[in-house]
Amino acid sequence: MIQKILIANRGEIALRIVRACRELGIKTLAVYSEADVQSLHVQLADEAICIGGPKSADSYLRADRIISAAEIADVDAIHPGYGFLSENAKFAEQCESCNIRFIGPKSNSIKMMGDKAVAKATVRKAGVPTVPGSDGPVQSESEAVKIARKIGYPVIIKAVAGGGGRGMRIAHNDVTFAKEYHSARNEAEKAFGNGDVYIEKYIDKPRHIEFQILADSHGKVLHLGERDCSVQRRHQKLIEESPSPFLTPDLRKKMGKAAIRAASAANYENAGTIEFLVDAKGNFYFIEMNTRIQVEHPVTEEVTGIDLIKQQIRIANGEKLEFDQGDIKFEKHAIECRINAEDPARNFIPSPGTIGLYYAPGGHGVRVDSHAYSGYQIPSHYDSMIGKLICYGRDRKTALERTYRALSEYLIRGIKTTIPLHKAIMSDPVFIEGKATTAYMEDFMKRTPTDLFT
Ligand code: ADP
Repeated sequence: MIQKILIANRGEIALRIVRACRELGIKTLAVYSEADVQSLHVQLADEAICIGGPKSADSYLRADRIISAAEIADVDAIHPGYGFLSENAKFAEQCESCNIRFIGPKSNSIKMMGDKAVAKATVRKAGVPTVPGSDGPVQSESEAVKIARKIGYPVIIKAVAGGGGRGMRIAHNDVTFAKEYHSARNEAEKAFGNGDVYIEKYIDKPRHIEFQILADSHGKVLHLGERDCSVQRRHQKLIEESPSPFLTPDLRKKMGKAAIRAASAANYENAGTIEFLVDAKGNFYFIEMNTRIQVEHPVTEEVTGIDLIKQQIRIANGEKLEFDQGDIKFEKHAIECRINAEDPARNFIPSPGTIGLYYAPGGHGVRVDSHAYSGYQIPSHYDSMIGKLICYGRDRKTALERTYRALSEYLIRGIKTTIPLHKAIMSDPVFIEGKATTAYMEDFMKRTPTDLFT
């Protein structure tokens, strides 16, 4: 039985895991960098160990220090959260070999799904539709151009090791292709230490719709419905909601089944997400699997009433899922807004600094997952997300009205945030009508006067 968990992460997700553990009666060990001494996860965990300097490479990415901390503090399991080492197969393997449970899938599944080209080939074999493209990584520019012509422009060049919207380039013809091909390779090499890229048809104005998976170690694989994450800036999600305003019950059923097939093909265990692009006609294509908990998991929690972090811990403990597909009820509508310390009026430039007054909204149907507080100094070393606002209600209209109301109450002084931008989006007819595709944000920013989100 897991009695003590090391949380190999920071920020709101570290806090989220502390909270789940506390409810389960499990002790927590926080690890932190020198920049996070004042962090809430450090203050609220049962124990805390400093593992290095402010840079991620000196602390949250140091598998050796994290495993040493785990051994010193005698923990049974490590929860990696998202980002950092969460999709690092080698780290999962190291945990396994040190007899520390990694709260996530087995390292083999991470390996298989972490290479996006291998992941595509694996799920395609299992009968899941994928975006037309190259069979695996392309070996040379000349081969790549041939494939691009065959698929037909526009195409998207993607890093096999990609993540976080990096290492992706769109090409519209042979001339731009060569340039984009090389810059995608260079960016991928720098960001992931692996320059391999593959090519896909660029789908015109799709929706990004993903399915939450839970799979136990006894072979049961279930889906917990979808999240529509079409509101993105530079391929990074800003707003997520469930259910998707686009899906019909029939399409939802088909995609849910495909998601389960995809996860089963990877022998998947624990919580994971199958991401699809869906075109205007309702054709859907697998793009990748995330083998970890995601930022937007609370949306699913509020719709289904299932605590995903607790389920992750139970699964890692070897327990069976206590429910079947038919037991999962989708009774609410939930919307999540990512609150980032950025200035939307100045091209989303990061806005680190000290928060003056911090006041989070509350009331019926409002959840705030955040590590921020009055006087909190936001370090400049990490990503800019400082919180998530999740509002839910019986239907989409209620969730929308509640989100707008809660955003109006949310006070974060001293820095710029995405709160005013979210308010403008919640008042935008295109979003309100449920018509947002992945092209939405670019269009919204072009047609909306800056003072509406400043
Ligand atoms: P990452 O792992 O970096 O997040 P994904 O493969 O999940 O990359 O893609 C992120 C986003 O990029 C998608 O949600 C979508 O907006 C866009 N995208 C990716 N592949 C395609 C494609 N073939 N056609 C159109 N848009 C795409």
